[in-house]
Amino acid sequence: MVPLYKRILSYLAPHSRLIFVAIVATAIFAVLDATVYVLLIPFMETLFVRGLTASTPVDSGMARLLDATVYRWVDVGGNPLSAIGSIIVLILLVFAAKNLFHFLRVYLLARAEQGFNRDVRNSVYSRLVDLDLGFFGRVRTGQIVSRLTTEVEQVRTLVISEFSSVVSAMLEFSAALVAMLLISWKLTTAAFLVIPAAMVFWGPLVKVLRRRDRRVQHLGGEVNAHILETLSGIRLVKSASAESRERERFEKLTGDYFYQFMRAEFTRALAAPVTEMLAATGTVVLLWYGARLVIEGDVTGAQFVGFLGLSMKLYSPVKRIAKFPATAQPGLVAAERIFEFLDAPVEIRDSPEAASLKSIEREISFENVSFSYRDGDPAIDRVSFCVPKASMLALVGPSGSGKSTIVDLLGRFFEVADGRITIDGIDIRSIRLADLRALIGIVSQETVLFHDTVFANIAYGSTDTEQRSIEAAARAAHAHEFICGLPNGYKTFVGERGFQLSGGQRQRIAIARALLRDPPILILDEATSALDTGSERVIQGAIKKLVDGRTVFVIAHRLSTVQSADQILVMDKGRIVGRGTHASLVAESGLYRQLYELQFQDTGISGNL
Ligand code: ADP
Repeated sequence: MVPLYKRILSYLAPHSRLIFVAIVATAIFAVLDATVYVLLIPFMETLFVRGLTASTPVDSGMARLLDATVYRWVDVGGNPLSAIGSIIVLILLVFAAKNLFHFLRVYLLARAEQGFNRDVRNSVYSRLVDLDLGFFGRVRTGQIVSRLTTEVEQVRTLVISEFSSVVSAMLEFSAALVAMLLISWKLTTAAFLVIPAAMVFWGPLVKVLRRRDRRVQHLGGEVNAHILETLSGIRLVKSASAESRERERFEKLTGDYFYQFMRAEFTRALAAPVTEMLAATGTVVLLWYGARLVIEGDVTGAQFVGFLGLSMKLYSPVKRIAKFPATAQPGLVAAERIFEFLDAPVEIRDSPEAASLKSIEREISFENVSFSYRDGDPAIDRVSFCVPKASMLALVGPSGSGKSTIVDLLGRFFEVADGRITIDGIDIRSIRLADLRALIGIVSQETVLFHDTVFANIAYGSTDTEQRSIEAAARAAHAHEFICGLPNGYKTFVGERGFQLSGGQRQRIAIARALLRDPPILILDEATSALDTGSERVIQGAIKKLVDGRTVFVIAHRLSTVQSADQILVMDKGRIVGRGTHASLVAESGLYRQLYELQFQDTGISGNL
């Protein structure tokens, strides 16, 4: 637990000055808050008993404090109305100052709070984009979003609101306590004996009430569930002639509900009067004792009234302090979960001796590569093949056979478990990650567009952001024409994931993006859903330009692509079950031929594999 607090506090460090000032403001606020009650004393003394106390001087700390302060400025011996007037002005000034410091405290804490919020969110987000792709397969998106939003919020509440509320409660408590002690230590002791007595009963009562309320809620649910079950099974109930049995069961449930509800209500109805009676008894004892002290000349009547006001003020801070462990709980749990997230290991990163690689000269090869998402269930099983530079490899096979996994392994989005992948004989694990990813361009069937302009979407990930280059890429991708037809041309915003554009248009933007980046290796995940013939032809044209001269891995669904591939790998359950060219594979009687016969023959040239 200690390191947890320490880590939370480390996020507070940059805001420590603000927090410090806020705490000072809180302290001043607390003192002034108590002062308001203290000032009621000279007010009342002037009004009622100043003359009396003058004859029986009271020697309490408070009397000395007031003599040294208020009574120096306020001439109580003179005109009582003008003295009262001065005291009232003083009270008003204290109120004004108190509220000024209240404002300062709230505002400064809000700044610290939002600064903390921003910092934690930034570190969680920064972690998020660094994490391996595998993490996102394991952890549900909702969980991640909740960590970035709700849980950060909970930690913020804990750290600032709850924590500051406790600090200020302690300060308010102390200020009131000091004032009370200055009035009379005897009265203070008495108050501390009788006031907590009321609280002793309050706690258990609330607990019993909560337990009974939970029971009532549970039974309410049961009643509803029984009605629902009966409704959905009414045919069965009737055919089994179980009406009266169901009636009995239901009546027992509503009877239980009635009984438990009344029990809870009994406690609730009792709670307020009982505690009030206890508190009243305590107060009465205090009144009796206080009156005695006044009569004996230990305190003035006005001091005693001031004391009562201060002792009432103690309730709220004490309650806040007592509740803190419970209210802090959700925040602490959230903090733990956030740190767990921040500590999730990033396994795929540059090794210290990672080398730079800017181009491919000879070939890419997979050597006996195996990989599994879950232990003991290989998604890729001892796969070996070689793709010479500037040739096209088509991956075909049923869904789930491992085609996407192969290309993800090449981009090192996942790490091979066994074997190795090399580019020009260099293991990709010893190539700098940024270099490797720069070598590879991806055009996938699920084309992701960001909520930004068409221009920015094409330029995403490129260093070249000249208008001319962007336009040239768009032209080559057969996208220029439709982009010019958009309301703001290249400056048109495309919606979240590009929903305002058609599938074909989005794909052409993705192709333009890939053309602009000009990567030597290209991964092409062909769309499975057929586009209309017009866009199909345009896209095929754009893709032809794109693949030209590059080393291409294509997850192929189209006959035209498969036919023009230099090499085809037929995948099934993570293994290569056939390889060759279209002609040689059709000649064999394997899976490829089955797929071919099943899909291509009647759907013609644009059939999906
Ligand atoms: P294909 O691209 O041929 O449809 P994949 O490479 O997507 O096949 O999947 C290969 C196998 O790995 C499938 O059994 C699939 O269920 C599993 N798989 C794919 N991605 C994940 C993942 N992120 N987590 C767990 N299993 C996965």
